[in-house]
Amino acid sequence: MADLETFRAEVRDWLAANYPASLNAPMSEDEAPWGGRKMVWKNPDAKLWLERMGARGWTAPTWPKDYGGGGLSAEEARVLSQELARIHARPALMSFGIWMLGPVLLEYATEDQKRRFLPPIVRGEIRWCQGYSEPGAGSDLASLQTRAEDRGDHFLINGQKVWTSYADQADWIFCLVRTDTTKKHEGISFVLFDMTSPGVEARPIKLISGSSPFCETFFDNVKVPKDQLVGKLNGGWEIAKRLLQYERQNISAGGFGGGAGLELEEVAKGYVGLRAGKLADADLRARIAAHKMDAKAFALTVRRAETESKAAKGPSPAVSIIKYAAASLNQAKHELMLEAMGTKGLGWDGEGFAPEEIRETRAWLRSKGNSIEGGTSEVNLNVIAKRVLGLLDHQ
Ligand SMILES: Cc1cc2nc3c(=O)[nH]c(=O)nc-3n(C[C@H](O)[C@H](O)[C@H](O)COP(=O)(O)OP(=O)(O)OC[C@H]3O[C@@H](n4cnc5c(N)ncnc54)[C@H](O)[C@@H]3O)c2cc1C
Repeated sequence: MADLETFRAEVRDWLAANYPASLNAPMSEDEAPWGGRKMVWKNPDAKLWLERMGARGWTAPTWPKDYGGGGLSAEEARVLSQELARIHARPALMSFGIWMLGPVLLEYATEDQKRRFLPPIVRGEIRWCQGYSEPGAGSDLASLQTRAEDRGDHFLINGQKVWTSYADQADWIFCLVRTDTTKKHEGISFVLFDMTSPGVEARPIKLISGSSPFCETFFDNVKVPKDQLVGKLNGGWEIAKRLLQYERQNISAGGFGGGAGLELEEVAKGYVGLRAGKLADADLRARIAAHKMDAKAFALTVRRAETESKAAKGPSPAVSIIKYAAASLNQAKHELMLEAMGTKGLGWDGEGFAPEEIRETRAWLRSKGNSIEGGTSEVNLNVIAKRVLGLLDHQ
Protein backbone atom coordinates (compact mmCIF):
# COMPACT_ATOMS: atom_id res chain seq x y z
CA MET A 1 0.00 0.00 0.00
CA ALA A 2 2.88 2.35 0.84
CA ASP A 3 4.29 1.57 -2.62
CA LEU A 4 1.01 2.55 -4.15
CA GLU A 5 1.01 5.87 -2.30
CA THR A 6 4.59 6.52 -3.48
CA PHE A 7 3.42 5.76 -7.00
CA ARG A 8 0.47 8.16 -6.56
CA ALA A 9 2.85 10.94 -5.48
CA GLU A 10 5.08 10.28 -8.50
CA VAL A 11 2.10 10.39 -10.86
CA ARG A 12 0.89 13.64 -9.29
CA ASP A 13 4.30 15.28 -9.72
CA TRP A 14 4.60 14.04 -13.26
CA LEU A 15 1.14 15.31 -14.19
CA ALA A 16 1.84 18.69 -12.60
CA ALA A 17 4.94 19.00 -14.78
CA ASN A 18 3.57 17.46 -17.97
CA TYR A 19 -0.18 18.10 -18.40
CA PRO A 20 -0.42 21.13 -20.70
CA ALA A 21 -2.41 23.95 -19.09
CA SER A 22 -4.04 24.88 -22.40
CA LEU A 23 -5.97 21.57 -22.30
CA ASN A 24 -7.96 22.67 -19.26
CA ALA A 25 -10.69 24.07 -21.54
CA PRO A 26 -13.55 21.67 -22.46
CA MET A 27 -12.72 19.43 -25.44
CA SER A 28 -14.91 19.85 -28.52
CA GLU A 29 -15.78 16.84 -30.67
CA ASP A 30 -13.41 17.85 -33.48
CA GLU A 31 -10.54 17.80 -30.99
CA ALA A 32 -10.99 14.12 -30.11
CA PRO A 33 -7.44 12.72 -30.03
CA TRP A 34 -7.73 9.76 -32.41
CA GLY A 35 -4.08 10.03 -33.45
CA GLY A 36 -2.80 8.44 -36.64
CA ARG A 37 -1.19 9.88 -39.73
CA LYS A 38 -4.24 11.88 -40.85
CA MET A 39 -4.95 13.54 -37.50
CA VAL A 40 -5.19 17.32 -37.72
CA TRP A 41 -4.31 18.73 -34.28
CA LYS A 42 -6.30 21.90 -33.55
CA ASN A 43 -4.19 22.45 -30.45
CA PRO A 44 -0.50 21.42 -30.67
CA ASP A 45 -0.53 20.83 -26.90
CA ALA A 46 -2.93 17.91 -27.41
CA LYS A 47 -0.28 16.31 -29.63
CA LEU A 48 2.37 17.01 -27.02
CA TRP A 49 0.16 15.43 -24.33
CA LEU A 50 -0.20 12.28 -26.48
CA GLU A 51 3.57 12.16 -27.09
CA ARG A 52 4.30 12.46 -23.37
CA MET A 53 1.74 9.88 -22.29
CA GLY A 54 2.71 7.56 -25.17
CA ALA A 55 6.40 7.74 -24.30
CA ARG A 56 5.61 6.47 -20.78
CA GLY A 57 3.25 3.83 -22.14
CA TRP A 58 0.43 5.36 -20.10
CA THR A 59 -2.02 5.34 -22.99
CA ALA A 60 -2.01 1.54 -22.46
CA PRO A 61 -1.00 1.43 -18.79
CA THR A 62 -1.21 -2.33 -18.19
CA TRP A 63 0.35 -3.54 -21.44
CA PRO A 64 3.87 -4.94 -21.03
CA LYS A 65 6.77 -2.50 -21.37
CA ASP A 66 8.30 -4.73 -24.06
CA TYR A 67 5.50 -3.67 -26.38
CA GLY A 68 5.51 0.02 -25.46
CA GLY A 69 2.94 -0.23 -22.65
CA GLY A 70 3.22 1.17 -19.15
CA GLY A 71 3.84 -2.19 -17.45
CA LEU A 72 1.62 -1.12 -14.53
CA SER A 73 -0.28 -3.46 -12.24
CA ALA A 74 -4.08 -3.17 -12.19
CA GLU A 75 -3.85 -1.24 -8.89
CA GLU A 76 -1.28 1.20 -10.27
CA ALA A 77 -3.38 1.70 -13.40
CA ARG A 78 -6.36 2.55 -11.16
CA VAL A 79 -4.24 5.14 -9.32
CA LEU A 80 -3.17 6.63 -12.65
CA SER A 81 -6.78 6.95 -13.84
CA GLN A 82 -7.82 8.44 -10.47
CA GLU A 83 -5.09 11.04 -10.73
CA LEU A 84 -5.99 11.85 -14.33
CA ALA A 85 -9.64 12.25 -13.27
CA ARG A 86 -8.61 14.43 -10.32
CA ILE A 87 -7.14 17.07 -12.65
CA HIS A 88 -9.95 16.54 -15.23
CA ALA A 89 -7.32 15.58 -17.80
CA ARG A 90 -8.43 15.11 -21.37
CA PRO A 91 -7.84 11.65 -22.80
CA ALA A 92 -4.40 11.61 -24.42
CA LEU A 93 -5.60 9.09 -27.00
CA MET A 94 -8.88 7.57 -28.16
CA SER A 95 -8.14 4.45 -30.11
CA PHE A 96 -9.70 1.28 -31.49
CA GLY A 97 -6.14 -0.03 -31.28
CA ILE A 98 -6.07 0.37 -27.49
CA TRP A 99 -9.70 -0.63 -26.86
CA MET A 100 -10.06 -3.59 -29.21
CA LEU A 101 -7.14 -4.70 -31.34
CA GLY A 102 -4.27 -4.49 -28.84
CA PRO A 103 -5.83 -6.82 -26.27
CA VAL A 104 -6.38 -9.56 -28.87
CA LEU A 105 -2.89 -9.10 -30.31
CA LEU A 106 -1.53 -9.64 -26.79
CA GLU A 107 -3.48 -12.91 -26.67
CA TYR A 108 -3.15 -14.26 -30.20
CA ALA A 109 -0.35 -12.56 -32.15
CA THR A 110 3.17 -13.87 -32.71
CA GLU A 111 6.06 -12.20 -30.91
CA ASP A 112 7.09 -10.44 -34.15
CA GLN A 113 3.56 -9.13 -34.68
CA LYS A 114 3.35 -7.84 -31.12
CA ARG A 115 6.64 -5.96 -31.49
CA ARG A 116 5.60 -4.57 -34.84
CA PHE A 117 2.03 -3.47 -34.16
CA LEU A 118 1.64 -2.71 -30.45
CA PRO A 119 4.16 0.15 -29.89
CA PRO A 120 2.70 2.39 -32.66
CA ILE A 121 -0.76 1.83 -31.13
CA VAL A 122 0.49 2.98 -27.72
CA ARG A 123 2.09 6.08 -29.22
CA GLY A 124 -1.04 6.83 -31.28
CA GLU A 125 0.90 6.80 -34.54
CA ILE A 126 -1.36 4.37 -36.38
CA ARG A 127 -5.13 4.67 -36.32
CA TRP A 128 -7.10 1.43 -36.80
CA CYS A 129 -10.59 0.71 -38.09
CA GLN A 130 -12.74 -2.39 -37.72
CA GLY A 131 -13.67 -4.35 -40.85
CA TYR A 132 -16.38 -6.70 -39.56
CA SER A 133 -19.89 -5.85 -40.87
CA GLU A 134 -20.87 -6.44 -44.49
CA PRO A 135 -24.07 -5.65 -46.40
CA GLY A 136 -25.21 -9.26 -45.84
CA ALA A 137 -23.48 -9.91 -42.51
CA GLY A 138 -24.24 -7.82 -39.42
CA SER A 139 -25.85 -9.70 -36.56
CA ASP A 140 -25.09 -12.92 -38.41
CA LEU A 141 -21.48 -11.85 -38.77
CA ALA A 142 -20.18 -15.32 -39.62
CA SER A 143 -22.00 -15.11 -42.99
CA LEU A 144 -19.34 -12.68 -44.16
CA GLN A 145 -18.27 -13.08 -47.79
CA THR A 146 -15.17 -10.89 -48.20
CA ARG A 147 -12.82 -13.41 -49.75
CA ALA A 148 -9.09 -13.90 -49.14
CA GLU A 149 -7.48 -16.25 -51.64
CA ASP A 150 -4.17 -17.90 -50.89
CA ARG A 151 -1.65 -16.75 -53.51
CA GLY A 152 1.50 -18.29 -52.08
CA ASP A 153 3.27 -15.49 -50.20
CA HIS A 154 0.18 -13.31 -49.91
CA PHE A 155 -3.62 -13.25 -49.73
CA LEU A 156 -5.66 -11.58 -52.44
CA ILE A 157 -8.65 -9.85 -50.89
CA ASN A 158 -11.91 -8.98 -52.65
CA GLY A 159 -15.19 -7.86 -51.14
CA GLN A 160 -17.00 -5.14 -49.25
CA LYS A 161 -17.44 -4.01 -45.66
CA VAL A 162 -20.03 -1.51 -44.40
CA TRP A 163 -20.50 0.76 -41.37
CA THR A 164 -16.72 0.83 -41.01
CA SER A 165 -16.38 3.67 -38.49
CA TYR A 166 -13.85 6.28 -39.65
CA ALA A 167 -12.36 4.04 -42.35
CA ASP A 168 -11.53 7.17 -44.34
CA GLN A 169 -9.48 8.47 -41.39
CA ALA A 170 -7.78 5.20 -40.48
CA ASP A 171 -4.27 4.05 -41.42
CA TRP A 172 -4.80 0.29 -41.00
CA ILE A 173 -7.73 -2.11 -40.72
CA PHE A 174 -8.30 -5.29 -38.72
CA CYS A 175 -10.47 -7.30 -40.98
CA LEU A 176 -12.44 -10.55 -41.03
CA VAL A 177 -12.11 -12.46 -44.31
CA ARG A 178 -13.30 -15.78 -45.67
CA THR A 179 -10.45 -18.19 -46.33
CA ASP A 180 -12.62 -21.33 -46.66
CA THR A 181 -15.94 -21.24 -48.50
CA THR A 182 -16.97 -24.75 -47.49
CA LYS A 183 -17.38 -23.91 -43.81
CA LYS A 184 -19.07 -21.02 -41.98
CA HIS A 185 -17.43 -20.14 -38.65
CA GLU A 186 -14.35 -22.29 -39.30
CA GLY A 187 -13.70 -20.61 -42.67
CA ILE A 188 -12.93 -17.12 -41.31
CA SER A 189 -9.50 -15.57 -40.76
CA PHE A 190 -8.35 -12.37 -39.03
CA VAL A 191 -5.96 -10.20 -41.06
CA LEU A 192 -4.35 -6.77 -40.72
CA PHE A 193 -3.57 -4.46 -43.60
CA ASP A 194 -2.63 -0.94 -44.57
CA MET A 195 -5.52 1.21 -45.82
CA THR A 196 -3.16 2.74 -48.41
CA SER A 197 -2.71 -0.67 -50.09
CA PRO A 198 -3.68 -0.52 -53.77
CA GLY A 199 -7.31 -1.63 -54.22
CA VAL A 200 -8.68 -0.28 -50.90
CA GLU A 201 -11.37 2.37 -51.16
CA ALA A 202 -13.30 3.94 -48.26
CA ARG A 203 -16.44 5.86 -49.24
CA PRO A 204 -17.96 7.91 -46.40
CA ILE A 205 -21.70 7.42 -45.82
CA LYS A 206 -23.35 10.77 -45.28
CA LEU A 207 -25.92 10.74 -42.48
CA ILE A 208 -28.97 12.98 -42.09
CA SER A 209 -26.97 14.98 -39.53
CA GLY A 210 -24.52 15.90 -42.28
CA SER A 211 -21.67 14.04 -40.63
CA SER A 212 -20.04 10.88 -42.00
CA PRO A 213 -18.82 8.69 -39.17
CA PHE A 214 -19.10 5.49 -41.24
CA CYS A 215 -17.84 4.24 -44.57
CA GLU A 216 -18.53 1.61 -47.15
CA THR A 217 -15.14 0.00 -47.63
CA PHE A 218 -14.26 -1.82 -50.84
CA PHE A 219 -11.41 -4.26 -51.52
CA ASP A 220 -10.45 -4.91 -55.10
CA ASN A 221 -7.56 -7.37 -55.46
CA VAL A 222 -5.81 -6.11 -52.33
CA LYS A 223 -2.52 -7.94 -51.69
CA VAL A 224 -1.91 -8.73 -48.02
CA PRO A 225 1.38 -10.37 -46.97
CA LYS A 226 0.84 -13.64 -45.14
CA ASP A 227 2.69 -12.49 -42.04
CA GLN A 228 -0.26 -10.15 -41.40
CA LEU A 229 -2.58 -13.05 -40.61
CA VAL A 230 -3.23 -13.14 -36.85
CA GLY A 231 -3.72 -16.54 -35.26
CA LYS A 232 -4.37 -19.64 -37.33
CA LEU A 233 -5.67 -19.77 -40.89
CA ASN A 234 -9.46 -20.33 -40.57
CA GLY A 235 -9.13 -19.64 -36.82
CA GLY A 236 -10.32 -16.01 -37.00
CA TRP A 237 -13.79 -16.51 -35.53
CA GLU A 238 -12.43 -17.13 -32.04
CA ILE A 239 -10.37 -13.92 -32.26
CA ALA A 240 -13.34 -12.01 -33.71
CA LYS A 241 -15.56 -13.00 -30.77
CA ARG A 242 -12.85 -12.17 -28.26
CA LEU A 243 -12.40 -8.74 -29.80
CA LEU A 244 -16.16 -8.14 -29.58
CA GLN A 245 -15.98 -8.85 -25.85
CA TYR A 246 -13.33 -6.16 -25.49
CA GLU A 247 -15.41 -3.82 -27.65
CA ARG A 248 -18.53 -4.40 -25.54
CA GLN A 249 -16.54 -3.95 -22.36
CA ASN A 250 -15.16 -0.66 -23.59
CA ILE A 251 -18.52 0.63 -24.83
CA SER A 252 -20.04 -0.25 -21.46
CA ALA A 253 -17.29 1.56 -19.57
CA GLY A 254 -18.45 4.84 -21.12
CA GLY A 255 -17.18 4.54 -24.67
CA PHE A 256 -20.44 5.75 -26.27
CA GLY A 257 -19.62 8.53 -28.68
CA GLY A 258 -21.21 11.96 -28.87
CA GLY A 259 -21.88 12.95 -25.25
CA ALA A 260 -22.75 16.60 -24.70
CA GLY A 261 -21.09 16.65 -21.28
CA LEU A 262 -24.29 17.69 -19.47
CA GLU A 263 -25.51 16.35 -16.12
CA LEU A 264 -29.12 15.17 -16.13
CA GLU A 265 -29.99 16.55 -12.71
CA GLU A 266 -28.46 19.95 -13.41
CA VAL A 267 -30.20 20.16 -16.77
CA ALA A 268 -33.57 19.30 -15.19
CA LYS A 269 -33.13 21.88 -12.42
CA GLY A 270 -32.14 24.53 -14.94
CA TYR A 271 -34.97 23.99 -17.43
CA VAL A 272 -37.86 22.74 -15.28
CA GLY A 273 -37.03 24.77 -12.17
CA LEU A 274 -37.53 24.06 -8.45
CA ARG A 275 -40.57 24.23 -6.18
CA ALA A 276 -39.98 24.02 -2.44
CA GLY A 277 -36.42 22.92 -3.14
CA LYS A 278 -37.53 20.01 -5.34
CA LEU A 279 -37.80 19.60 -9.08
CA ALA A 280 -41.11 21.27 -10.02
CA ASP A 281 -42.36 18.34 -12.14
CA ALA A 282 -43.09 15.49 -9.68
CA ASP A 283 -43.46 12.80 -12.33
CA LEU A 284 -40.18 13.72 -14.04
CA ARG A 285 -38.53 13.96 -10.62
CA ALA A 286 -39.51 10.38 -9.78
CA ARG A 287 -38.24 9.08 -13.11
CA ILE A 288 -34.94 10.94 -12.81
CA ALA A 289 -34.50 9.55 -9.29
CA ALA A 290 -35.19 6.01 -10.57
CA HIS A 291 -32.71 6.55 -13.39
CA LYS A 292 -30.06 7.79 -10.97
CA MET A 293 -30.50 4.68 -8.85
CA ASP A 294 -30.19 2.45 -11.91
CA ALA A 295 -27.09 4.36 -13.03
CA LYS A 296 -25.48 4.01 -9.60
CA ALA A 297 -26.23 0.29 -9.41
CA PHE A 298 -24.89 -0.09 -12.94
CA ALA A 299 -21.63 1.76 -12.12
CA LEU A 300 -21.07 -0.54 -9.15
CA THR A 301 -21.78 -3.62 -11.26
CA VAL A 302 -19.29 -2.43 -13.89
CA ARG A 303 -16.64 -2.00 -11.21
CA ARG A 304 -17.26 -5.49 -9.89
CA ALA A 305 -17.21 -6.97 -13.40
CA GLU A 306 -13.94 -5.16 -14.17
CA THR A 307 -12.31 -6.63 -11.09
CA GLU A 308 -13.62 -10.09 -11.98
CA SER A 309 -12.46 -9.77 -15.58
CA LYS A 310 -8.97 -8.70 -14.48
CA ALA A 311 -8.80 -11.69 -12.15
CA ALA A 312 -9.91 -13.94 -15.03
CA LYS A 313 -7.48 -12.24 -17.45
CA GLY A 314 -10.07 -10.73 -19.78
CA PRO A 315 -13.80 -10.25 -20.21
CA SER A 316 -16.30 -13.11 -20.41
CA PRO A 317 -19.54 -13.44 -22.43
CA ALA A 318 -21.21 -11.86 -19.37
CA VAL A 319 -19.98 -8.51 -20.72
CA SER A 320 -23.06 -8.74 -23.00
CA ILE A 321 -25.24 -8.12 -19.94
CA ILE A 322 -23.32 -4.93 -19.24
CA LYS A 323 -23.36 -3.79 -22.87
CA TYR A 324 -27.13 -4.33 -23.00
CA ALA A 325 -27.71 -2.40 -19.77
CA ALA A 326 -25.27 0.38 -20.73
CA ALA A 327 -27.07 0.97 -24.03
CA SER A 328 -30.51 1.08 -22.37
CA LEU A 329 -29.31 3.41 -19.62
CA ASN A 330 -27.56 5.83 -21.95
CA GLN A 331 -30.62 6.02 -24.20
CA ALA A 332 -32.92 6.52 -21.18
CA LYS A 333 -30.68 9.32 -19.91
CA HIS A 334 -30.85 11.21 -23.18
CA GLU A 335 -34.65 10.75 -23.41
CA LEU A 336 -35.01 12.26 -19.91
CA MET A 337 -32.60 15.03 -20.79
CA LEU A 338 -34.61 16.01 -23.85
CA GLU A 339 -37.87 15.83 -21.94
CA ALA A 340 -36.47 18.17 -19.30
CA MET A 341 -35.21 20.62 -21.92
CA GLY A 342 -38.56 20.78 -23.72
CA THR A 343 -38.41 22.63 -27.04
CA LYS A 344 -34.85 23.73 -26.20
CA GLY A 345 -33.86 20.11 -26.72
CA LEU A 346 -35.04 20.11 -30.31
CA GLY A 347 -32.58 22.57 -31.80
CA TRP A 348 -30.45 21.72 -34.77
CA ASP A 349 -28.69 24.97 -35.56
CA GLY A 350 -29.37 28.68 -35.52
CA GLU A 351 -29.22 31.39 -32.91
CA GLY A 352 -32.25 30.34 -30.84
CA PHE A 353 -30.25 27.57 -29.18
CA ALA A 354 -27.16 27.49 -27.01
CA PRO A 355 -24.24 25.36 -28.33
CA GLU A 356 -24.72 22.80 -25.54
CA GLU A 357 -28.43 22.50 -26.42
CA ILE A 358 -27.55 21.67 -30.01
CA ARG A 359 -24.90 19.23 -28.81
CA GLU A 360 -27.48 17.50 -26.61
CA THR A 361 -29.97 17.11 -29.49
CA ARG A 362 -27.20 15.44 -31.49
CA ALA A 363 -26.10 13.31 -28.54
CA TRP A 364 -29.72 12.10 -28.15
CA LEU A 365 -29.78 11.08 -31.81
CA ARG A 366 -26.33 9.49 -31.54
CA SER A 367 -27.52 7.41 -28.56
CA LYS A 368 -29.96 5.59 -30.89
CA GLY A 369 -26.95 3.70 -32.25
CA ASN A 370 -25.95 2.42 -28.79
CA SER A 371 -28.28 -0.56 -29.06
CA ILE A 372 -26.83 -1.43 -32.51
CA GLU A 373 -23.05 -0.84 -32.33
CA GLY A 374 -20.83 -3.65 -31.04
CA GLY A 375 -23.71 -6.12 -31.56
CA THR A 376 -27.40 -5.18 -31.22
CA SER A 377 -29.27 -5.46 -27.93
CA GLU A 378 -31.25 -8.41 -29.34
CA VAL A 379 -28.03 -10.20 -30.28
CA ASN A 380 -26.57 -9.52 -26.85
CA LEU A 381 -29.72 -10.98 -25.27
CA ASN A 382 -29.14 -14.09 -27.41
CA VAL A 383 -25.51 -14.28 -26.21
CA ILE A 384 -26.69 -13.98 -22.60
CA ALA A 385 -29.28 -16.72 -23.13
CA LYS A 386 -26.86 -19.10 -24.83
CA ARG A 387 -23.43 -18.49 -23.38
CA VAL A 388 -24.15 -17.05 -19.95
CA LEU A 389 -27.36 -18.80 -18.93
CA GLY A 390 -26.73 -21.92 -21.07
CA LEU A 391 -30.34 -21.98 -22.31
CA LEU A 392 -29.45 -23.37 -25.74
CA ASP A 393 -26.76 -25.86 -26.48
CA HIS A 394 -25.25 -24.59 -29.76
CA GLN A 395 -23.26 -21.62 -31.25
C1 LIG B 1 -22.42 3.68 -34.20
C2 LIG B 1 -22.09 2.42 -34.95
C3 LIG B 1 -20.77 2.15 -35.26
C4 LIG B 1 -20.44 0.97 -35.96
N1 LIG B 1 -19.12 0.75 -36.29
C5 LIG B 1 -18.77 -0.37 -36.97
C6 LIG B 1 -17.41 -0.60 -37.35
O1 LIG B 1 -16.52 0.21 -37.07
N2 LIG B 1 -17.11 -1.74 -38.01
C7 LIG B 1 -18.05 -2.66 -38.33
O2 LIG B 1 -17.69 -3.69 -38.89
N3 LIG B 1 -19.36 -2.46 -38.03
C8 LIG B 1 -19.75 -1.33 -37.36
N4 LIG B 1 -21.07 -1.09 -37.05
C9 LIG B 1 -22.09 -2.04 -37.54
C10 LIG B 1 -22.74 -2.87 -36.46
O3 LIG B 1 -21.83 -3.82 -35.95
C11 LIG B 1 -23.98 -3.56 -37.09
O4 LIG B 1 -24.88 -2.53 -37.47
C12 LIG B 1 -24.66 -4.50 -36.14
O5 LIG B 1 -23.85 -5.62 -35.88
C13 LIG B 1 -26.04 -4.97 -36.67
O6 LIG B 1 -25.93 -5.47 -37.95
P1 LIG B 1 -26.91 -4.94 -39.13
O7 LIG B 1 -26.84 -3.45 -39.14
O8 LIG B 1 -26.55 -5.66 -40.37
O9 LIG B 1 -28.37 -5.31 -38.67
P2 LIG B 1 -29.09 -6.73 -38.85
O10 LIG B 1 -28.19 -7.82 -38.44
O11 LIG B 1 -29.68 -6.78 -40.21
O12 LIG B 1 -30.24 -6.61 -37.77
C14 LIG B 1 -31.49 -5.93 -38.03
C15 LIG B 1 -32.38 -6.11 -36.82
O13 LIG B 1 -32.70 -7.51 -36.65
C16 LIG B 1 -32.35 -7.92 -35.33
N5 LIG B 1 -31.83 -9.29 -35.36
C17 LIG B 1 -30.95 -9.81 -36.24
N6 LIG B 1 -30.66 -11.10 -35.95
C18 LIG B 1 -31.37 -11.40 -34.83
C19 LIG B 1 -31.51 -12.57 -34.04
N7 LIG B 1 -30.83 -13.68 -34.32
N8 LIG B 1 -32.33 -12.53 -32.96
C20 LIG B 1 -33.00 -11.39 -32.65
N9 LIG B 1 -32.94 -10.25 -33.39
C21 LIG B 1 -32.13 -10.26 -34.46
C22 LIG B 1 -31.28 -6.97 -34.87
O14 LIG B 1 -31.20 -6.88 -33.46
C23 LIG B 1 -31.74 -5.67 -35.50
O15 LIG B 1 -32.70 -5.04 -34.69
C24 LIG B 1 -21.45 0.07 -36.35
C25 LIG B 1 -22.79 0.36 -36.05
C26 LIG B 1 -23.13 1.54 -35.36
C27 LIG B 1 -24.57 1.83 -35.06
